[in-house]
Amino acid sequence: MKLPEITAEQVSQAMELMPALWMKKYKIKTSQGLPMEFDNHAFMRDPINDMSPLQAWLKPPQIGASESQIVKTLWCAKKKKWDIIYTLPTDTDRNDMAGSKVNRIIAQNPVLQEWTQEHDSVEQKSVGENIIHYRGTFTQKKAMMVSSNLNVHDEIDASDPDVITQYENRQQANSETRTWYFSHPSIAGFGVDIYWQQSDKKEWFVTCPNCEKEIILASADFNWKDSIDFDRQQLICRLCKGDLSSEDIKGGRYKPTNGICRYDPMNGKDLYPGMTSTPEGIPLRDFSGYHISQLMCVWITAKNIIAKKNDPLKDEQYFSNYVLGLPYVGSENKISSEVVLKNVTPTINAQSPRVIIGVDTGLPIHYTMMNSEGVFYHGSCKPPSASYDPYDELEGYLKRWDKSIIIADQGGDLIGIRKLQAKYPGRVFLVWYRKDRKTQETITWGDPQDDDKRGTVVVDRNRMFQLMVEQLRDPGRIVLNGSKEDWQEWASHFDNVYREIKTAKNSPGKDVATNYGVEFIWKRNGPDHFCHTLLYCLVGMDKYATALAQIIKKDSFMAGVPVGSNVDGTIRAGSNLRRYGSFNGGGGIIENI
Ligand SMILES: [Zn+2]
Repeated sequence: MKLPEITAEQVSQAMELMPALWMKKYKIKTSQGLPMEFDNHAFMRDPINDMSPLQAWLKPPQIGASESQIVKTLWCAKKKKWDIIYTLPTDTDRNDMAGSKVNRIIAQNPVLQEWTQEHDSVEQKSVGENIIHYRGTFTQKKAMMVSSNLNVHDEIDASDPDVITQYENRQQANSETRTWYFSHPSIAGFGVDIYWQQSDKKEWFVTCPNCEKEIILASADFNWKDSIDFDRQQLICRLCKGDLSSEDIKGGRYKPTNGICRYDPMNGKDLYPGMTSTPEGIPLRDFSGYHISQLMCVWITAKNIIAKKNDPLKDEQYFSNYVLGLPYVGSENKISSEVVLKNVTPTINAQSPRVIIGVDTGLPIHYTMMNSEGVFYHGSCKPPSASYDPYDELEGYLKRWDKSIIIADQGGDLIGIRKLQAKYPGRVFLVWYRKDRKTQETITWGDPQDDDKRGTVVVDRNRMFQLMVEQLRDPGRIVLNGSKEDWQEWASHFDNVYREIKTAKNSPGKDVATNYGVEFIWKRNGPDHFCHTLLYCLVGMDKYATALAQIIKKDSFMAGVPVGSNVDGTIRAGSNLRRYGSFNGGGGIIENI
């Protein structure tokens, strides 16, 4: 039997009906003028075509999801005749997106220019007869009072949850409820994860050419490390350990792993009205969910993934959220001194590599010393008196090691530290804590050419604290030279700190850690001076990046293996100092020897 002829015109018309086909037909380009393709981005095709009313995408950055979503919403406004509200965390994000993404995408594509008008503001875009409103959640505290057929919440984990809730309540009053959430996830049970949990949880299944089983590359249910051969820097099948090629990955397909979505992805119709499971007993989900990880991106190599894992300035949560596209589930909100003391190794620190001295000014002054071989000494100064200035003691250290630097907070007596700064230019830095910001930069060094900024360093407090705790939790990354007794008191300060998690509220750029969408605050319920002195040391090590790479042993296969280079016997941290004889400093261990 002969199949009915399909004309070119019919094919062309059919291609108008699905965004991904339409994008192919009109050769839609990105804001950078590159073709939007579904070869390398094969995993974007289904999410782009999905018209289910409730959607949740877990996605890492830099995979082209935002640009695809912008094109999809322009298509929906025009073809579906929907008014759309599109939110981003702040107005700044909104303005950036309008300027660098939406307008540029339109400028690259004649068909989109036909649909839109040039005089539109960053707040809205007229598309055919309909409007897309772009809004920030923190700066515009009230949900928009306009009605919409679809609300899209981009970067929801960094958005104001109160405002998102207002939008949700308004949508529920509307008979036509469509809400699409997408974001890099943050922590479990927050932001996009709330909706993902109610979804059919579609994962990208790749057929292994070796064992012919269908496998997922990264999910919350197994260790992603099983999907990479670290020695050969190669993606592998986690079951048979055979190699996976780019073609294998591109040839994958989405399959639900948590029941099935009740809606027809083509038109958003409820296929099972009034039912909670299919006639076969499969649970029905309200949300259509997609999980995208960077392991699915063939242009991101296994080598690159490993490098991100080993980046000493990125913590576990960063990797989980931004690389794996998964919510962070590490729930430990404390680190005990016992765990800290697992980093103690009986190695002698030669004290020849550049020494960093982290100083917590206050009464008394606490300090910790480290170099690329490890953290080798800590102490506290006596209170100042007529015959004793604790800053003389600190100066003694600067003299003792001619390349050493001091990183000190500016909480105590500024005069003393300023004096040292004037006397030892380029060797004394004042550290300021800032609340975490929406940036990938944890440490910002003051410009040496700038009179006001020279000799200063600004650190994201909670992010750096978190990073330090993650490093201490993984023994071997930060070495404490000496014996457990040497470090007992020092480590006890870690018993006095704990992490509090708050969901984001109000005050953009002030109280909200938009970096992860939630506020992590490291608090104390007792002395925590030594915690901060170590943090300042790590900041100082950052100034000499190569040294940092050495001190923070990153390869997890090395975890637990002492990394100190001089394994020639046990020696107490304090004794290390005394080896140099002439020194006769103040408090701490030295006095106890
Ligand atoms: Zn296999």
